[in-house]
Amino acid sequence: MKKRVYVSCIAVAMMMVGCNEKKAALTGGIDLSNLDTTALPGADFYRYACGGWMKKHPLADEYSRFGSFDQLAEDNRVRLKELIESLASGEAAEGTEAQKIGDLYSVAMDSVKLNQEGATPIRPLLEQIAALREKGELPAFVARLRRAGFSPYFAVYVGADAKNSEMNIVNTYQDGLSLGEREYYLDRDEHTLKIREAFQAHVAKMFQLVGFSVEEAAGAAMNVMAIEIRLANAAKSAVELRDPQANYNKMTVEELQRAVPGIDWNLYFSALGLSGLQEVNVGQPAALREVAAIFNEVELSVQKSYLQWKVIDAAATCLSDAIYAQNFDFYEKTLSGKQEAQPRWKRSVSTVNGILGEIVGKLYVEKHFPAAAKERMISLVENLRTALGERIRGVRWMSDETKERALEKLAAIRVKVGYPDTWRDYSRLEIRKDSYWENVMRASIFEYDYMLSKAGQPVDKEEWLMTPQTVNAYYNPTTNEICFPAGILQYPFFDMKADDAFNYGAIGVVIGHEMTHGFDDQGRQFDKEGNLKEWWTADDAARFEERARVLVDHFNAIEVLPDLQANGELTLGENIADFGGIQVAYTAFQHAMSAAPLDDVEGFTPVQRFFLAYAALWAANIRDEQIRVLTRSDPHSLGRWRVNGTLPHIPAWYEAFHVTSDSPLYLPEERRAEIW
Ligand SMILES: [Zn+2]
Repeated sequence: MKKRVYVSCIAVAMMMVGCNEKKAALTGGIDLSNLDTTALPGADFYRYACGGWMKKHPLADEYSRFGSFDQLAEDNRVRLKELIESLASGEAAEGTEAQKIGDLYSVAMDSVKLNQEGATPIRPLLEQIAALREKGELPAFVARLRRAGFSPYFAVYVGADAKNSEMNIVNTYQDGLSLGEREYYLDRDEHTLKIREAFQAHVAKMFQLVGFSVEEAAGAAMNVMAIEIRLANAAKSAVELRDPQANYNKMTVEELQRAVPGIDWNLYFSALGLSGLQEVNVGQPAALREVAAIFNEVELSVQKSYLQWKVIDAAATCLSDAIYAQNFDFYEKTLSGKQEAQPRWKRSVSTVNGILGEIVGKLYVEKHFPAAAKERMISLVENLRTALGERIRGVRWMSDETKERALEKLAAIRVKVGYPDTWRDYSRLEIRKDSYWENVMRASIFEYDYMLSKAGQPVDKEEWLMTPQTVNAYYNPTTNEICFPAGILQYPFFDMKADDAFNYGAIGVVIGHEMTHGFDDQGRQFDKEGNLKEWWTADDAARFEERARVLVDHFNAIEVLPDLQANGELTLGENIADFGGIQVAYTAFQHAMSAAPLDDVEGFTPVQRFFLAYAALWAANIRDEQIRVLTRSDPHSLGRWRVNGTLPHIPAWYEAFHVTSDSPLYLPEERRAEIW
């Protein structure tokens, strides 16, 4: 489910921090062995800048994609394991953070116990579903499942009211599709048909593994498909979901009862823990009406299969090896192309990091995050802010009136660096040695109740949406803030020992990227206070759309596989942010260079090094299966195209690498984007 629907981040994968003790190379941060200088920059800049890295990091069986981000995660996992094990080793008093970390890690690691138990931990819940007697019981039961972390039919979350951004509101959102995107259920191409067939076979196998007969399992799988196909038909595509106005349908619960009859909403919200709820934002009314129709039209026995499936599917990674293996076989192998599961210790570290993230994070920053890094970052952010301001003033297509408001919005952007000032309180989360699955359920309820407690309350602008050990960054439009966790403030994103060419090309572009999200096709619809409210003149808005269209068309024409094109509409916001981020960082870099000029290093000019540092962030190897998955679901372009797709729009890149009109990547000026 999507908790923060408009939050944009730099990369899709939420990785953990690494602590790469990369030596400050003489090249000013650029590792020359990452290059493949047999490639021509104007023909394939990605290979030129990253080819050496890709050769040095062949794809291991447990990965469907491995890039510089994943390398950080790998390095760091070992450190997190040490942190966790040091806490877990001593005798910790009941209820302490050390006891929670230690016990959670040990139940996750205990394969003997997990294999003995098999499906036993989820059996009571499956039986409760089997015992439902009438459809009238569905709303309250579905609410209970939602609260415990399952995702049947539709989601309910609490987040900022997009048109009253100081306050939190309860929202509904489409959900319930095991495969995520609606196209998996509806498209008729050969590849999708195969996935759909494999999915249904997988559902049947999973039912068998938890104790159903072959016939029962086959019937249950058909029931699951019947419901998910109905949900898919009523669902919006990932592109349609990018429209914040369309997702804004605030109403009273009484109005909801009239707009979506067929579900007793007071009953539903009470069961969820929201008695007396007054108003709600309905994200996608048509999808919700279809849920009400399914509740009432589809036989209860069919819906029971669907609910049981949602339990089995969610629990699969916390049960026996046999169940884990079947889950891996479909989602990770068939869908994403991985050949081998991660070893248990890696999965267990991820579980602890996911459930007790701020306990791990607090220890992490104490040990690995230098205060000097924060100071340097804050001054970089301010230099980038100045540069974006200059660029906004300088654009020729925008009226002074809109520019004035854009500059006000830019000045109002809040900045978070490193880690939060106050830490999450886990004292009410109970972690015991009873069972892995029971702990995961208690943690889900703990998280969900924490979120619900914010309903109708003012937005806490000090809250962090990522843990400090995360290798990522984000822009949140409803608070108009950018956030850079400690995890991203290390090589190859940031290097205290490297020169400006490197740091502006790497973390500088990341900062510019997040700032530009405030002015991309989604972010620009929010004002400086984070409200979804028009602040552009109609002419300026139309000219922006026209300019953004250049990037949509450019990316739509990119072939990511011989039979597959990139999705320019889905990736528009991220492509604008990459394009703007590079332009803004380059401007800031020029200012830094005029104050403190740099020399060539090992034959590379400072500007060349700026672009090499940028490209190196996206170095990765990826399987074809994962290219298909990400092209359908990821709002970010693939690493290759964040380099080869975006740089041809940047004038300074042509100059730096002498790329001329006979080069394959060359774009005539009239086809280059000109936005920020
Ligand atoms: Zn982004």
